[in-house]
Amino acid sequence: MRSISIFGATGSIGESTFDLIRQQGGARAFRTVALTGGRNITRLAEMAVELQAEVAVTAHEDCLPSLRDALQGTGIEVQAGASAIAEAADRPADWVMSAIIGAAGLVPGLRALRHGRTLALANKESLVTAGALLMATAQESGATILPVDSEHSAVFQALTGEDIKAVEKVIITASGGPFRDWSVERIAKATLAEAVAHPSWSMGQRISIDSASMFNKALELIETREFFDIDPSRIDTLVHPQSIVHALVGFTDGGVLAHMGMPDMRHAIGYALHWPDRGHVPVARLDLGQIANLSFQSPDAVKFPALRLARDVMSQRGLYGAVFNAAKEIALDHFIAGRIAFPQMAAIVEETLVRVSAEPAYARPAARLDDVMAADSEARRIATAIVKEK
Ligand code: NDP
Repeated sequence: MRSISIFGATGSIGESTFDLIRQQGGARAFRTVALTGGRNITRLAEMAVELQAEVAVTAHEDCLPSLRDALQGTGIEVQAGASAIAEAADRPADWVMSAIIGAAGLVPGLRALRHGRTLALANKESLVTAGALLMATAQESGATILPVDSEHSAVFQALTGEDIKAVEKVIITASGGPFRDWSVERIAKATLAEAVAHPSWSMGQRISIDSASMFNKALELIETREFFDIDPSRIDTLVHPQSIVHALVGFTDGGVLAHMGMPDMRHAIGYALHWPDRGHVPVARLDLGQIANLSFQSPDAVKFPALRLARDVMSQRGLYGAVFNAAKEIALDHFIAGRIAFPQMAAIVEETLVRVSAEPAYARPAARLDDVMAADSEARRIATAIVKEK
């Protein structure tokens, strides 16, 4: 029986993963080792009972008593805290879903890779903050990383059986988010509710706002660079409002492979779950006759400065990815809390990058966890100071 663990089980990706596991037979077909969540204890406990998990872990110590109550008498072990989540990643599992949101997903994913597991990686922040470390760890231990971001899963699928040297261009698409056709002036006044209302994908709150600001696409450009080791000049993004073509790969002979599918994360998760085979995945089938039109346009880098900032990070590499992500997480917290306006998020990230660029230490490769953690916490401190100044 195949064993699995889901980190971030109670989130949007976690729920989709749970749904697929359940449709494949749930506890009859899989041995569930660890399920982790944050504050949604009721849901974490329900999932743990249904999948008969070995251990359920909440990220928050103060949630431990309620998790303990919810799972009393079930025989399921309960734990809490970031170190308990990291330890859960040491438990043997054949397939591990990394779907915690933000930089908190880095350590558990890294621990799973050290043990040579197959890691289905939704947590793009891991590659953005510590791409060099992640890829080297996987190589040393013989672990497999399967990208779960729909665009990267699409590129991965298009590259299967291909020689990376024959790749001329990788284009990841972007829906353009809810503000695609808004003016700069209107975006400046965007509310939280407007930023969360994604036109084509159903996702968690934070990634939905990142899609509206195109910080999500910025993270994905960096993720493409780190995962596929492709020169930034060969990586591009196109706005494609229908979200049907997830990525395009152009080859030296002029051919272009496009990966298409309905906008449903269960496709990319299902691909990773069945890999290296193709199994049945219960997503809606594509009907191009019905869709009729697929359109593409270049993104507006003035309206969405996150894309320009990502280009700088992709060319500088080093610890700038960790700085970029941490500053973005702080700026996003403040936007959600209603303390800053929508465009200030990009301004805060840019200012943080400018302030650290004077320090040569940030040019060091993101090869050691300590360096990544230090860059992350320093960037959070600087970004917080910038918010206060503003
Ligand atoms: P959600 O916000 O929906 O879920 C996040 C999960 O992480 C929840 O289980 C949450 O627990 C848990 N969590 C939150 N904070 C912490 C923490 N500090 N430590 C440990 N666990 C924590 O996120 P998504 O599912 O939308 O995204 C997950 C990852 O997948 C992100 O990296 C995102 O970029 C990526 N991704 C998401 C896509 C999507 O469609 N949603 C598409 C492609 C990539 P709880 O809710 O119980 O508090």
